[in-house]
Amino acid sequence: MAVWQKHRFTAIIENMVEKVIPKVIPIRINEGKGLAPSIGAQLIAPHGNTQDTRGRILRDLRISVTDRCNFRCTYCMPKEVFDQNYPYLSHKELLSFEEITRLTSIFSTLGVEKIRLTGGEPLLRKNLEVLIAMLAQVRTPDSKPLDLTLTTNGSILRKKATALKAAGLQRLTVSLDGLDDAIFKKMNDVDFPVADVLDGIAAAQEAGFENIKVNMVVKKGTNDHEIIDMAQHFKGSGVILRFIEFMDVGSSNGWNMAQVLPSKEVIARINAVFPLEAIEANYSGEVAQRWRYVDGSGEVGVISSVTQTFCHECTRARISTDGQMYLCLFANEGFDFKTLLRSGKSDLEIANAIMNTWATRDDHYSEIRGSDTANQSTGHRKVEMSYIGG
Ligand code: SAM
Repeated sequence: MAVWQKHRFTAIIENMVEKVIPKVIPIRINEGKGLAPSIGAQLIAPHGNTQDTRGRILRDLRISVTDRCNFRCTYCMPKEVFDQNYPYLSHKELLSFEEITRLTSIFSTLGVEKIRLTGGEPLLRKNLEVLIAMLAQVRTPDSKPLDLTLTTNGSILRKKATALKAAGLQRLTVSLDGLDDAIFKKMNDVDFPVADVLDGIAAAQEAGFENIKVNMVVKKGTNDHEIIDMAQHFKGSGVILRFIEFMDVGSSNGWNMAQVLPSKEVIARINAVFPLEAIEANYSGEVAQRWRYVDGSGEVGVISSVTQTFCHECTRARISTDGQMYLCLFANEGFDFKTLLRSGKSDLEIANAIMNTWATRDDHYSEIRGSDTANQSTGHRKVEMSYIGG
């Protein structure tokens, strides 16, 4: 069979399969089979001013350390897709701690100062505190340590908090979608109780973490009635609560616009009970918009990736669990840095490959999304958030 015939045949079969099982598909589209990054013929010294095609500069990096999670949040890793047959990565496919540290230190020579470890559930990666201790040694070109943080579902934080702090983790974000046990259990879909996440947050505070944030994904009609209770609970606690609009990440969460509660509405609801005023971003490119309680009892944030997109100031790259560099959370293709790392290339060559890859970046997905991007027929199949790192 000629190559074009093979492609055509594959396309026909894929089309038929999608019609029969429209959503329940183990999605590893292109995962681990990324594009080859270009090192270029003329190597240049690493610098922190590489602009993408829209003038955006690389400043922060998210690294997914595992594609596995012990939760099955319906909006992220729904049970019907992420079941025992899902093709999770094997251990040898993952970047090792040494590879992650090497890549991070190369990124730091290119202006990256902020690193977030994520997943999947990052605390499921064995000995994660060892990786954190390694990353805590990395220095920027002007000898500063990196701003090192982690996003977790909090389920094993009670066990891990002290070791994470001792290893040099500076900040933590814990995800929690409500205080009502029935709602939360329905959303995490593994019957995990609210009390244990709250206990994880308490453990982090006891371990000395001062800068803790809580992320609540708001799904209209599912947990939006929890907004005020959540605000009340964390008001005055020192923990910063952030509300995230339900996003069309991946291709399996059945997203549609009717389930998005615009952040404006979140703020209006809180403001009606606990008056708020807008405050400045901490730094340019911060994705959360900040609001403080007028009575001085702390702040909340909103991340409006659907209704007020921030692509124009996005300075973020992502490394998937198996070492593919992605230029957007909503991308469907990555660049294979694992192969480069494992093929004896020098740090200078890898730095050039990163700069060249960033220079090609044109992504601005949130600005052009349709109203039903989860619909497979649009043909834009995005990689899953658990793999690319949330
Ligand atoms: N397991 C960790 C956790 O639960 O925080 C880290 C990975 S998780 C993918 C990172 C963050 O992405 C969480 O705060 C989660 O709620 C958020 N998230 C996942 N799917 C989302 C979606 N469809 N829309 C908005 N936020 C989402």
